[in-house]
Amino acid sequence: MGLFENLGRKVESFKQDATENASAPTHRCGDCDAEFYTAYETCPDCGGEDVHAIE
Ligand SMILES: [Zn+2]
Repeated sequence: MGLFENLGRKVESFKQDATENASAPTHRCGDCDAEFYTAYETCPDCGGEDVHAIE
């Protein structure tokens, strides 16, 4: 049972990390510098196609 308890804690920890990462923008428009939480193909602000993932 101990093994499953440890696994459960790791999953909880992973969920917490994912939530923290979601609080920061993941993509940015190279044309107008707008930042997004979604991987748009074209910028919803200026229509530019230079939306790229933020490292
Ligand atoms: Zn833009």
